Amino acid sequence: MSMELNILGTASQLPTETRNHGGYFLRWEDQAILFDPGEGIQRQFILGGLSVPSVRIICLSHFHGDHCLGLPGVIQRLALARVPYPIMLIYPQEGEAYLTKLLSCSEFQNDLILQKIPIVKEGVIAQAGKLHIEAVALQHRIPTYGYRLVKPKGYRFDKEKLQALEISGKSVGILQKNGKLQTPKGIVTQDHVSKEVPPQIFAYVADTAPGNHLKTLMKDADLVLCETTYLKDDAELALQYKHLTTKYAATAAKENEVKYLIATHFSERYGDTNVIEKELRDIFPRSYAAHDFLRYTLEFKTGKLTIETIRKNDE
Ligand SMILES: [Zn+2]
Ligand SMILES: [Zn+2]
Repeated sequence: MSMELNILGTASQLPTETRNHGGYFLRWEDQAILFDPGEGIQRQFILGGLSVPSVRIICLSHFHGDHCLGLPGVIQRLALARVPYPIMLIYPQEGEAYLTKLLSCSEFQNDLILQKIPIVKEGVIAQAGKLHIEAVALQHRIPTYGYRLVKPKGYRFDKEKLQALEISGKSVGILQKNGKLQTPKGIVTQDHVSKEVPPQIFAYVADTAPGNHLKTLMKDADLVLCETTYLKDDAELALQYKHLTTKYAATAAKENEVKYLIATHFSERYGDTNVIEKELRDIFPRSYAAHDFLRYTLEFKTGKLTIETIRKNDE
């Protein structure tokens, strides 16, 4: 099983020629979750060969424009497509007034079934298939939440143990269905021939100052998408505007035993993201500075991360 993160924008406040406002589309366990659709997100979907009407869940971290100005377009596109299923929309409750405006800023035929989930406090706020969606309060200039998605630990059959007990073919299915199986050597339970699969975790660290909340979000995560607005030498700006630097993000990833760190939300003052990536890797080697239209796919079984471009007609 794998997790696929599509990067649709990597700019912070100001978009640039090469960076759209943010927008991150996660496909995992049959879920299609869009985080923080910034301005221009619909076109980024199209250029990336992705489908807006396939979105099922939208998570907003906060109501600064670079994180939500794309919402009206996405909602109206979903309504136009007449998607028959409910769309889950998760957001900080304090931003309700902004949400109301974003959802009603222009005329459209709205038959959409919108399941609004305002976050009033931290914790698990929704369930999407097997995934728990947890909100963690961040420290930004307005109420902001990060998201931690967890697929709880599970079990899978241990082939060697099955072989040792000569259990194969249909018997495996019976064992799975009933939880136990009568064999010539006695009753075998499913637990006896299974091994634990650890929980799988994705975290999105949106705009924030450093603090303990980074640990709550990042601890043991397989893949972390994290704002890294500033280089380490601009720490004063980060402090002033309540953002992270490369140093803060990479240090937190290292301390919390993250598998892979993907940095995004870059200030327009930096043209070259190689410098950002280098600063991250000096502290945490498994770091990447994202570009618009990159897809990161994590294969859980092997732990391998593959990176490909999804931009159509890329030259
Ligand atoms: Zn932002
Ligand atoms: Zn912000």
